[in-house]
Amino acid sequence: MSVTSPSQSIVDLHRPGAASDVFAGEALMVPPPPPSFARQRTAIGLPEVSEVDVVRHFTRLSQESHGVDNGPYPLGSCTMKYNPKRNDELARLSGFANAHPMQDADTLRGVWEVYERLQVMVSEVTGMDACCLAPAAGAHGELAGLLVLRRHFADLGTPRSVVLVPDSAHGTNPASAAMAGFECRIVPSDLKGRVDMVSLREMLTSDVAAFMLTNPSTLGLFEDQIVEIADAVHANGSLLYYDGANLNALMGIVRPGDMGFDVVHVNVHKTFSTPHGGGGPGAGPVAVKAALAPYLPRPVVIRKNGVAQPDEDRPLSIGRMKSFHGHVGVLLRAYGYLRTMGARGLREASENAVLNANYLQHQLAHILPPVYNQFCKHETLLSGERLNTSARQFAKRLIDYGIHPPTLVGAGCVYFPGDLKSAMLIEPTETESKASLDYQVEIFQRVFDEDSTDEALVESAPLSRKIARLDIKI
Ligand SMILES: *Cc1c(COP(=O)(O)O)cnc(C)c1O
Repeated sequence: MSVTSPSQSIVDLHRPGAASDVFAGEALMVPPPPPSFARQRTAIGLPEVSEVDVVRHFTRLSQESHGVDNGPYPLGSCTMKYNPKRNDELARLSGFANAHPMQDADTLRGVWEVYERLQVMVSEVTGMDACCLAPAAGAHGELAGLLVLRRHFADLGTPRSVVLVPDSAHGTNPASAAMAGFECRIVPSDLKGRVDMVSLREMLTSDVAAFMLTNPSTLGLFEDQIVEIADAVHANGSLLYYDGANLNALMGIVRPGDMGFDVVHVNVHKTFSTPHGGGGPGAGPVAVKAALAPYLPRPVVIRKNGVAQPDEDRPLSIGRMKSFHGHVGVLLRAYGYLRTMGARGLREASENAVLNANYLQHQLAHILPPVYNQFCKHETLLSGERLNTSARQFAKRLIDYGIHPPTLVGAGCVYFPGDLKSAMLIEPTETESKASLDYQVEIFQRVFDEDSTDEALVESAPLSRKIARLDIKI
């Protein structure tokens, strides 16, 4: 059987003798491990499948889901931009890809060299003084940053137990605060979607370690009171934490460090070009102002006598967040991205991300009015109040036209709080052309018309998928 069909699993494709043995015997470059190391002594029953069937099977599976390489992916808050393939090639360079995590640190000079340079670049883009690349994701970077803060206050002899988070925050913020052992209190937003300053001032009590903020916010709005916020937080002896997942809006334009933030994490898999989604590896470097640098997790790479190497002398470090050296391949992609973009390229990327979001907001305003009627940054929150069905159904129908659903906000949908009935957070990213944006506008209009004339059709979407709805209750 050499034609794979949609219902088959790889096990169904098993054909005795079909598997290739080209790597057996003399062709094997690496000697097999000593038999005493073998944990499994009997055959483990893997299906035997020919190479062509394996390729067809997995290519077919890959085509059953939507990725940024298939079409537009305006999933707000996630920055699903196109990632240049050149950076994947970098990550596959054999000197890096074949390095073993247990190799002597001395034999990993190339890795440390890239790490040291990348630490400097992340610090430069964020306006911080020191950086550790090890955390494995944004949420992991948050945890690292908050543990750094906790250790800092403990060292001062004035432990603080509370972290403030705005009600527009990404769900990981309160979760990380709780994981790091803090009590989390929620600061309300004002009518413009900004931090409510009166509430913030009341909530800044002597036990507050930090205020966690992202700017622009997860509503796509720039927090224009940021200087006032930083002053109020610092006057209370508290520190300001920057959730850097929205850095795509302001790279090369404004730096969190200059806005008054003390700790930052960056989602390199969002901003610095690593394919993500589906739970693949990411990285969440954490960067800090000088006073907090001694507490950073290990490894921090330093340059001694011109040679980049992990700093072994870090007695105040919070310790390791991640086994071995973090996600080398992801960090290599970030390094390649930053080198190819350069300072001017980063700024242009952010300017285009913001321009694209405002273009969509403007072109869609007559069918999906913006919830906050003002210029947005890299993403915009659009209201589904004019729909007969709902933002949820609208988004499902987009799948039939090859567009990934935007992030749904409101009753029963996602992690966003607030009393929005039905809205969509749309983030086109800078990598969509004007033609692609115009296609998206055209399809949004078409689905809006369908919603007016044929509700049942929109209700039953998506029609083009083998599985329309997973059997889960949300
Ligand atoms: C994506 C995101 C996070 C979490 O990042 P992960 O890498 O998914 O852990 C945190 N905050 C904001 C605003 C985000 O968009």
